Amino acid sequence: MASFREKLERLRPGTVAIARIPFDEYSSYLRGAAEAPEKIWEAFHSASANTFAEDGTDLKGHPRAVDMGTVPFRSYGDIGIPLEQILATGARLLSLGGDHSIAYPVIRAHARFHPELTILQLDAHSDLYDEFDGNRYSHACPFARIMEEGLARRLVQVGIRTLTTHQREQAERFGAEIHEMRHGLPRRLNLSAPLYLTLDMDVLDPAFAPGVSHHEPGGLSVREVLNLIHAIDVPIIGADIVELNPQRDINGMTAMVAAKFFREVLAGMLRTGGE
Ligand code: MN
Ligand code: MN
Repeated sequence: MASFREKLERLRPGTVAIARIPFDEYSSYLRGAAEAPEKIWEAFHSASANTFAEDGTDLKGHPRAVDMGTVPFRSYGDIGIPLEQILATGARLLSLGGDHSIAYPVIRAHARFHPELTILQLDAHSDLYDEFDGNRYSHACPFARIMEEGLARRLVQVGIRTLTTHQREQAERFGAEIHEMRHGLPRRLNLSAPLYLTLDMDVLDPAFAPGVSHHEPGGLSVREVLNLIHAIDVPIIGADIVELNPQRDINGMTAMVAAKFFREVLAGMLRTGGE
């Protein structure tokens, strides 16, 4: 097995590094998301499906996709270190979580290299709490940290259906552009480059994705999320897929959905990744 350091040497501008971040210590309700990266990887390689994206890209052994394995970190505060090493090579980064708390260190690493980020967040929740259960780094808080530190220029949220008064105030304070689910899906998203995509599996209706910690009814179908991914018309410079909880899954069906999103996001990043 190549070490993380040896894998770093394979990275260059135009490659997409796939990093597993098995961290779920800042989940507010249930643990389990730390098991997700391995389950997504298994589902991606499952004999029940193939490794092609819908646009015809074969992702198996793709010369510009590099599996970094689990990135080395000891605690939450360290997560950004290996990620900055990856981004310093000029490669792009696709992270597999983990709970949504990882978005803060992951996006902070990206912001060092891309100061004018637009974030597209697909999620049932806005994750804008100033603190949750006394934890400012809870998976309910990453976008408060990101916006108050000025790590992104725009935060565009789709699928949101759980706003509290506090979160509405936070959204106002940070200028978050929220497309609430009660108004239906936006016809088009006015996205700008460079774009970072953060995909919380609970954006889906629980009927499509039981394997998440927070079942929030009234969400998107798998097809609607795929259509949103395919409609992104600016380069995706980084992305994460978070909040799959294999302990809640049924027959691995949500892992299979996460692997499908992984294929389509990876293909999108490779499509627009030419330097
Ligand atoms: Mn979230
Ligand atoms: Mn969520």
